[in-house]
Amino acid sequence: MNNFYRFIIIVIISFPLIAKGNTNLSLPSKIDIRIFSGSEINEINLTSLEGRYLIYSDNETNEPLLSVRKFASIKLRAKDSKILIIRRDTIIQEVSKVLILGGAFNNIMLLNPIEPDLAFRMYDDDFVITVADGKLKIINIVALEKYIAGVVQSESGFLRHAVYYQVQATIARTYAFKNINRHEAQGHNLCDQVHCQAYYGRTGYNPIIEAVNDSRGTIIIDNNSQPVNTVYHANCGGETINSEDIWPQALPYLRSVKDTFCLNSPGARWEMKISINDLLRFVESTYKIKLSASEKNHILTFTQDNRKLHLDENKKIHLRQIRENFKLRSTFFSITTENDTIIFRGRGFGHGVGLCQEGAMKMAQYGFSKEYIIKYYYKNIELVVIDDFFAN
Ligand SMILES: [Zn+2]
Ligand SMILES: [Zn+2]
Repeated sequence: MNNFYRFIIIVIISFPLIAKGNTNLSLPSKIDIRIFSGSEINEINLTSLEGRYLIYSDNETNEPLLSVRKFASIKLRAKDSKILIIRRDTIIQEVSKVLILGGAFNNIMLLNPIEPDLAFRMYDDDFVITVADGKLKIINIVALEKYIAGVVQSESGFLRHAVYYQVQATIARTYAFKNINRHEAQGHNLCDQVHCQAYYGRTGYNPIIEAVNDSRGTIIIDNNSQPVNTVYHANCGGETINSEDIWPQALPYLRSVKDTFCLNSPGARWEMKISINDLLRFVESTYKIKLSASEKNHILTFTQDNRKLHLDENKKIHLRQIRENFKLRSTFFSITTENDTIIFRGRGFGHGVGLCQEGAMKMAQYGFSKEYIIKYYYKNIELVVIDDFFAN
């Protein structure tokens, strides 16, 4: 980025009184994330990459079963409702719960699933492993800000602008704070899938770590001082959507905004073809209607310059349902036909509510501040900094 833009970046964080006095707003220092939650793991290899790990059965008031030095490994295998702890092909112990605690200042573990054979991942801090439905259930107990850094990498990748990383860190932290009890019934805080936030391991990438540090403790609150639901999508195609247009609730911070920043980004345009019959048959069977010739004609020449919600003039046929059924990238499409084929020409990628990632990336490159970008996509909100006590 050139110096002119660097010069005009002004990051202003407001401190409403409410945040200082309100004890409800405190972030946990650690968070429990179920990792590999999309996979059914029978056997996994664990190698310490940094620090010495102590392995306990059940809880840490017991004597540790063994210690794992840097670059040493153990293997865990699910057997019925138990876990076999294996070292150098010898079964050390059969337990119902394994606690793996790092004993050094920095502790990094490499987890390499053997059955099934999946790509390895690296995580910071501690783990607790039990068996659920005959498979290993692995929970990473990790410092919140390290988790945020891992999410930022999983959700936005490398080579982004520093301010964009700060934006992504702020919305990831707010999301974690708001949804901290999402998996309470299963005994952890969040999962590692897009159901919560993608978290495919730690990051060692300095620009992300710096951005997480620079935005440390910052979250987004609404007019009632509650953390907001920081939903986002890849590309809005030029206009975001009101929350109530696709979800049940109208939220004051999820308002439609025009966005020209994302129009030349990779997710801005898409095209897909299906047969005319497939679409018309889907509409007639889903809505239990018989389309007249003029209704068919309306559908087959459907256009959107600004976002619409329905495919038909009677506002019965939801674009959201068309998108879901035909796995379209967005609901922001127009239709043309060629012989018996429909060509969807669409804009944007994702549900279109909240922050547009590619727009925010471009705004960061243009020199807008973290606060300006966040307030561009989320309305009626404030940024607050809470709980800095966990600072290293
Ligand atoms: Zn989840
Ligand atoms: Zn956009």
